[in-house]
Amino acid sequence: MANSRFGYVRDFETHDTLLPQTYIVVRIDGKKFHEFSKHYDFAKPNDERALRLMNACAKNVVMQYRTDLILAYGESDEYSFILRRDSALFNRRSDKIATLFVSLFTANYVSLWPKFFTDRALDGKHLPYFDSRCVVYPNLTAVKDYLSWRFVDTHINNLYNTAFWQLIQKCGMTPQESENRLSGTVSSEKQEILFKDCGINYNNEPEMFKKGSLVTNKGAILHIDVIKQIDELFEEF
Ligand code: ATP
Ligand code: ATP
Ligand code: MG
Ligand code: MG
Ligand code: MG
Ligand code: MG
Repeated sequence: MANSRFGYVRDFETHDTLLPQTYIVVRIDGKKFHEFSKHYDFAKPNDERALRLMNACAKNVVMQYRTDLILAYGESDEYSFILRRDSALFNRRSDKIATLFVSLFTANYVSLWPKFFTDRALDGKHLPYFDSRCVVYPNLTAVKDYLSWRFVDTHINNLYNTAFWQLIQKCGMTPQESENRLSGTVSSEKQEILFKDCGINYNNEPEMFKKGSLVTNKGAILHIDVIKQIDELFEEF
């Protein structure tokens, strides 16, 4: 087959080889999970089962490629996998890495779903699927900043979403009223609104919601202050 007269079409294939000696980050993100989460009645703003399912999938991906991985970090419907700079996985082919990580993750998501959503089966018209990309970072500073960026994103989103939904659920506001109340407020003001209007001390919210989830290359799942521990996390890399 390989030597038929049709074989020349293979020459049309191109392969993106990721720069050597750079840290590769694979980020996957759920497609239309706003809708998906509504369909399966996720608790708002944070469905714990869904987050634990994401973590379990990420852990299985990490364990499969542990020798190439430094760590993985996730929040909401996304996960980032950070590879060692000397990784030679799939000859550093971008398409291979991105597609194999995301399909392994998705296969896990579907197969582990019943373990976390015990009373609700996936239906064929609303299946989970994810996009995936590879990005390279040239040095340790940049890759630490990448992780810090996702961590800050978790914090900002979670604080906003917690306040937004509490104003609706506890104070009976409409989504529009809640949005207006929070518009233009800084972090400390949102925390104050949560405390005064909803009786909630943001500090007491679950660590997984506030800090996201980090999977070490040994498979431990942690909810830690990434920025405070950034140097330790990359110590051996
Ligand atoms: P896109 O396809 O462009 O990624 P999206 O609808 O997935 O669109 P995102 O920006 O990725 O948009 O946001 C994911 C959305 O999924 C969140 O805004 C939230 O509504 C929902 N979501 C994800 N995980 C959870 C969770 N654990 N609990 C509740 N809602 C969640
Ligand atoms: P790679 O990961 O490099 O793709 P591979 O083992 O998947 O490695 P392929 O060249 O893609 O190698 O070949 C797929 C192999 O899977 C086939 O050689 C065959 O052994 C097996 N296979 C796939 N589909 C079937 C099928 N329907 N029935 C029996 N065997 C199958
Ligand atoms: Mg998106
Ligand atoms: Mg998404
Ligand atoms: Mg997302
Ligand atoms: Mg094959």
